Amino acid sequence: MDGSKKTSRRMNPEELEAVKENLLKRKEELWQEILEDLENDAREEHKNIDIIREQGDIALEELRSSTAFSLIELKHDELQQIEQTLQRIERGEYGRCVDCGRWITPARLEVMPYAVRCRRCQAEHEKLEKMQAE
Ligand SMILES: [Zn+2]
Repeated sequence: MDGSKKTSRRMNPEELEAVKENLLKRKEELWQEILEDLENDAREEHKNIDIIREQGDIALEELRSSTAFSLIELKHDELQQIEQTLQRIERGEYGRCVDCGRWITPARLEVMPYAVRCRRCQAEHEKLEKMQAE
């Protein structure tokens, strides 16, 4: 049985290259989708854009609640994650837990390519965030 993916270790160059390729592909897809969303939004909610021209910031808040904007925002967030992940690969930090410094298992990274923490630290992190939110 090959359990090496579940072992905490640094990814090898081939694995990193594959991750990078997937990220770049995803990045292109996202940009394409954002452009399409913007085009659809401009067509369907054209009036909003006119209102923004007239009223500025107040109307921008309204546009923020439109469907297309929330879709774009999610994609924009993912794009940022991709950028950060690509930078981590460049710096040789990809797959290293930002909290404990251990390597994240390749199996986990396969499912969550943007993960910056190992399973245990992520659980801790979420617990803390929850406590702070309360
Ligand atoms: Zn950790």
